[in-house]
Amino acid sequence: MKMSERDRAAAAGMAPGAITARGFLGSDERALADIVAADEEAAAALGLDLGAAADRLAELARKGEAGLGEPVTVEGRWLVRSEESRGRLPCPWRDGFYHKNSVSVEALEGGERLVFSELSLHLLREHHFCQGEGSPFRLDPAALKRLLGP
Ligand SMILES: [Zn+2]
Repeated sequence: MKMSERDRAAAAGMAPGAITARGFLGSDERALADIVAADEEAAAALGLDLGAAADRLAELARKGEAGLGEPVTVEGRWLVRSEESRGRLPCPWRDGFYHKNSVSVEALEGGERLVFSELSLHLLREHHFCQGEGSPFRLDPAALKRLLGP
């Protein structure tokens, strides 16, 4: 797939050391548009709405804030740890700044665990960008489905 100028600039911002130390692409060498297209396809095959998944994770993160940085059980199904952070990070597509908080959500049943920030959820919701394969913050569609359930 041909890369737009906007995607080219975003991809540069995703390299390690540009916006975050580890970057957003992990070990993934595919073009940004190809990563997004593959994850949209995988999500569709799973019946997973990426925007709805982002909203659900944001809701779990908010509920986890009650733990003030310690893990809390949310809705009897997840162990959530929400850690606040002062700093904010720009979206690589340059359409806003987002808290670089760290949230961990673990399913009590099955043990699936994902770690994300406010920026990760924005990338998922607005850009359908789950981050590259090998990124520690990748929100893989199949993992999202396992974590959030039907
Ligand atoms: Zn953005």
